[in-house]
Order: sequence, then C-alpha cells, then structure tokens
Amino acid sequence: MSELASYAVGEHNSRGRQHPEPRPKTRGEFARDRDRIIHSTAFRRLEYKTQVFVNHEGDLFRTRLTHSIEVAQIARTIARALKLNDDLTEAIALAHDLGHTPFGHAGQDALNECMADYGGFEHNLQSLRIVDKLEERYGAFDGLNLMFETRAGILKHCSPAKARELGEVAERFLKDHRPSLEAQVCNFADQIAYNNHDVDDGLRSGLITLDALESLTLFAEHRTAALQEFPHLTGRRLIHETVRRMIDAQVTDLLAETQARIARLGIATLEDVAEAPPLVAFSPAMHEMNRELKHFLHTSLYRHYQVVRMTTKARRIVKDLFSAFLSNIRLLPDQYRIRAECEGEPRAIADYIAGMTDRYAIKEHRRLFAVGEF
Ligand code: MG
Repeated sequence: MSELASYAVGEHNSRGRQHPEPRPKTRGEFARDRDRIIHSTAFRRLEYKTQVFVNHEGDLFRTRLTHSIEVAQIARTIARALKLNDDLTEAIALAHDLGHTPFGHAGQDALNECMADYGGFEHNLQSLRIVDKLEERYGAFDGLNLMFETRAGILKHCSPAKARELGEVAERFLKDHRPSLEAQVCNFADQIAYNNHDVDDGLRSGLITLDALESLTLFAEHRTAALQEFPHLTGRRLIHETVRRMIDAQVTDLLAETQARIARLGIATLEDVAEAPPLVAFSPAMHEMNRELKHFLHTSLYRHYQVVRMTTKARRIVKDLFSAFLSNIRLLPDQYRIRAECEGEPRAIADYIAGMTDRYAIKEHRRLFAVGEF
C-alpha cells in the first residue's frame, strides 16, 4: 500500500477487532480481512447466486461472484487514486453482497415478507451477520472477526431501531455520520459495475436492444466516440469498446468531483469525513446520465417479462421453503435446527434459505415438494 491520505482509514486510527489477535506477520490488518473474506464459504457461494440472470440461464452472464470482483476492481482503482486504504476498500467490496439470498432481489423481497413478523430480512444486514456470526472457520470466535471499519463499511443501510440493537458498528446511523471514504467509494463502484455490466448482459441476452440503448446520452456519446476512433467496429467488439469507455468516463468524473469536494471542504481527518456531507459523488451532469441509464435498465431489463417470469418463480420457491420449514422444524438440517434453539426458528430458517445458491434452492424445493424425489 502506498502512502495514505490523512482522511483514509489506517491501522493507526482503526478501532480494531472485537477479539484481539496477534498482528499478521506478512500483511496488513485490512489485507488479512480481505483474505478472510475470499476464503469464506459465503464468498464461494456467490458463484451460484443470481445477479440478474439465474446462473443456469447462460455461462457468460454475471453472477454475484463476478459482480463482486468487478466492484472490487473499480473500487480499488478509485481508492488508489484518492490515496485511500485500498485493502479495506477491496475487503468491503468483496463482502458487500455476501448476504444476498438465492435469486437476487426477488429472493430477498420474498424472504423479507416471510420474516415480516420476526424482525424482517435485509441482505445488507445479513452480510454483516455472516462475517460477524455465521461463518464457522476459527477456533476462537464465530464469524471472521474483521476490523471495525470493514464491518462498518459492509453495513450500508440500517434503521435506527436496528442500529440500537447492533451497537457500535451501527452508531453512525444514530449520529447521522457518513461512512468512511473507502465505504463511500464501494457504494459508487457497485453502481458503476452493475449499470455497465447489466448493459452488456442485457444485450447478450437479447432482452435489450442496441437501438433502445442509443436513446441514452451516456451510451450514445461513447458509442460515437468508439466509432470515431475505430470506424469499422461492429458487434460485440463495438459494445465492449463502448462499455469500457462508459466505465472510464464514470470513474474519471467521480474522481474529479470527489477530489474537488474534499479540497473545497478542507477534509483532513476521519472525523471530518464522518461529519461532512457525502464526499464521493458524480458531477451533476454525470449524475443525470447515470440516472437515465438506471431508469432505462429498470424499465427495459429488470421488468422485462422474461425476467419477471423468473423472479415470480423465485419468490414462490423461497416462500414455499420458508413455510414448509416453519410448519415443521424437523425438516431443517440438524445444524440449523440447533441454531433455532438460540436464535428462534424463523431466524434460523432465514439463515438457511439466505445461504442457499440458486440451484440448491431449486433442488431443495424439489426434495420437499416433488413426489418421488428425496
Ligand atoms: Mg452489489
């Protein structure tokens, strides 16, 4: 790690780990966090969890795993340019989607409805729960025992009631403080990654068309620029040349706007970051182009009838599984039934379902509901 800015999170201004551990011999504390996340079971499961397309719909679509790797790449680039802690940034980015249920947002919404009377379900809170409690890898503690700033960075949203329950890691939600710049960067890197890769995946799937995309300022501008430099480009190569320019333009814009805000407000310390308005941001012009792109993806891709058919099926699977387990807890595998004794049955069931990959959930549904399958 090169030299950090005074407003970056470092080991010197960190609040450390819940369970004290000897310092790592060959790497920094935040690099250790990133490595623990990569070695976790929840991280490997991301390979078989839906981003937009269910894993078996095609081999080349993004999954939660490749999405998380793309987010980490974009976030790390931005963090280095701003002289932030790139190991922490990467750790937050790689962990940001660990709590996702099978079948993406449709799965989380269904599980949240099932859990309405039992404290609800939210994938972001689940990501923290995984790294704090559910991973079983170390003799001395549950979870991964990550640094405070990694945990606080993973926790992106939180209601005041939940914040009181979670304590220190969520205190910024009660104090109306902003998260670290490293966490703010991850949040934008997430958006940059999915807006651009969903354009690519949407085109690949045939659910959105080039003609429709050309109505978008950002896409049209960079497609024209690509064709100016390479007049004979067509097909996939033209799409990739356009999308890579869109990512570059968004990252460049974000860096300029963020650096200007940091300079204008005289930000020098972590406390300054916490008390300032959001510092990581697009310029107003890029914000508008980004909003247009997001709106397009919402109406044309995420609500495309073929996607809605999949999400409807996904909701049914999650709801069926939840009510089957709740009606008879003895259907739950032993380890989760044991957890139900201290966490309560609904939460243990939610943990089990949230941890499932898409295909495991489909298989489990078949095992529970299809006559002739066990
Ligand atoms: Mg994400």
